[in-house]
Amino acid sequence: MSTIEHWIGGGFTSGAATRRSPVYNPATGQPQHEVLLAEPSDVDAAVAAATTAFETWSQASLSRRTKIMFEFRELVNSRVKQLAEIISDEHGKVLSDAAGEVQRGLEVIEFACGIPQLLKGEYSDQASTGVDVFSFRQPLGVCAGITPFNFPAMVPMWMYPVAIACGNTFVLKPSERDPSASNYVAGLWREAGLPDGVFNVVHGDKVAVDAILEHPGIAAVSFVGSTPIARYIHQKASASGKRVQALGGAKNHAIVLPDADLEFAANHLAAAAYGSAGERCMAISATVAVGAAGDPLMDILSRKANDVVVGSGRDPKSEMGPVVTAAAKDRIEGLIGTGEQQGARLLVDGRGLKVPGYEDGFFVGPTLIDQVQTGMDVYREEIFGPVLSVVRADTVDAAIDIINANPYGNGTAIFTNSGEAARRFMRGVDVGMIGINVPIPVPMAYYSFGGWKDSLFGDKHIHGPEGVSFYTRGKVVTSRWPHVEHAHGASMHFPTAS
Ligand code: NAD
Repeated sequence: MSTIEHWIGGGFTSGAATRRSPVYNPATGQPQHEVLLAEPSDVDAAVAAATTAFETWSQASLSRRTKIMFEFRELVNSRVKQLAEIISDEHGKVLSDAAGEVQRGLEVIEFACGIPQLLKGEYSDQASTGVDVFSFRQPLGVCAGITPFNFPAMVPMWMYPVAIACGNTFVLKPSERDPSASNYVAGLWREAGLPDGVFNVVHGDKVAVDAILEHPGIAAVSFVGSTPIARYIHQKASASGKRVQALGGAKNHAIVLPDADLEFAANHLAAAAYGSAGERCMAISATVAVGAAGDPLMDILSRKANDVVVGSGRDPKSEMGPVVTAAAKDRIEGLIGTGEQQGARLLVDGRGLKVPGYEDGFFVGPTLIDQVQTGMDVYREEIFGPVLSVVRADTVDAAIDIINANPYGNGTAIFTNSGEAARRFMRGVDVGMIGINVPIPVPMAYYSFGGWKDSLFGDKHIHGPEGVSFYTRGKVVTSRWPHVEHAHGASMHFPTAS
C-alpha cells in the first residue's frame, strides 16, 4: 500500500505526520493507499513556503502569470484521462463522469487565463481640477482551500486557478478520502513552470483544518463541504480575522408541472438524482410533483431508476458507481429505512444491491420514494446518495413555498412549458442557482457559483467575477501632479470636487 504525502515548496514530504488514514477503492471495498494526516507543524511548513513564494509571485507580471496559466491549461487538458482514472479509483464515480468533472474544472482554469482583463481597474480623468482617481486590485497573500470528497479535482479548481492568477499563493487541504488528484495536479503546476511554493497540498483531517483556521499567516479561506462544517469554518476563520467563503450542503428540489414533457423531465431527473450516485452538491434529491403530473411521473421515474446500470466506475458499461465509503452506504440505507417506517412509499429500493465481481463494494442502487412529507427524515436530511424523494403539491405556488421553507438554497429546477410559471418560479425561490428545464444548473466558470441560506456562509460566491473579487482587495488612488505655481494652495476643509 503506497503512502500519499504532502506537497510543500515544490516537492513531496512526509513532514511531521505520524497519523495515517486508509484510502479505499469504493468499488472493491478494499484499502489501496494510506494518506498522511498533517500535524500543525506541517501546515506551518506549507504556509512558510507559500509566504516566501508570495514575495516574488505577487510581483510577477500579468504576462508571466497568464503564460503559466495557459501552460497549466494545456497540461490538464492533455491529462483528463489520467485524472479521471485517479478520481474514479478513489471516489467511485464512473470514468465519463470523472472526465466531466475535470472538464468543468478546466473551464475555471480557462477563465483564469483571462486574468489581465479581469484585473483591469477603473480610471476617472480630471475628477477634480488637476486630480485623477483610479482603482486597482492586489492579491491577499497566502490563501487556503479546504475541499470535499465529491469533486476531488473540480472543487479545488474552483479556487486555486483564480487565487493564483490573482497573484496569491495557495495551500490546499483536500478530502482525506480521495487525496491523490491534488498531488497529481501539483506535478502539473510544476511542469507548467509555476514557482515552487505557490501551490502546496497538505493532507489531513480536523487537526490540519484547525491549524489553517488559526494560522496568522493565512489571509483567506475557501471551503466547500457539508453545512455544519461550513458554518464552523465561517465562524472560526472570521474570528481569526480571515476573509472566508464557506459553501455548505444542499437539498435541491425540482418542480415538475403537469404541462411539462414528463418523459423529458423524468430522463433528466433520473440523471440528476442518480448520476455520481447522488453525491453531487447540485444533485436533485427532492422532486415536487404538482397536481396531475404526479402519478404518470412516478411510473416513468420508476422505470428509469430500475434501468440504471450500476457497477465499477472503471467499467465502461456502468452508469453509476458505488458510494464513497462503507459508512456512507450504511447511513444512506438507514435513511431509506426511515422513509418506509415514517409512511412514505418506497417505489424502488436500492438497499442490499450486490454487483457481481464487486461483492464487497459500497454499492447502493437507485432509490425512489413517493408520498414523502417534509417532516420525514428522508426529506430533512441531506442523504448524499442515489435517493430521490418525491413530495406532492397542488399548485406551483405551494411548490415554491415548500422550497423556500427548506433551510438549504443551493440549486433548484423547474420542468414546465409555461414561461409565466418559470418566471414566477425563478423570481420567487430563495435559491442561488436556478434551472429552467435544466436539472443541474451549475453556472459556467465566467459566472459565479453559490447558494443561499444554509448552502453558503460568507459574502462571495466562488469562481467567476466574485472569485476574483474574493481573492483580491481594492485600492483607490487620488493623484495630483501640480504645476509648481499651484503647489502651495492646500486648504483645511474636507476635500470636495472643484
Ligand atoms: P465534509 O464537510 O465532511 O468535509 C469537507 C472538508 O472538511 C474535508 O476536507 C474534511 O477533511 C474537512 N472536515 C471534515 N470534518 C471536519 C471537522 N469536524 N472539522 C474540520 N474540518 C473537517 O464534506 P464531504 O463529506 O467531504 O463532502 C460532501 C458535502 O459537501 C455535502 O454536504 C455536499 O453538499 C457538500 N458540497 C457542497 C458543494 C457546494 O458547492 N455547496 C459542493 C460540493 C460538496
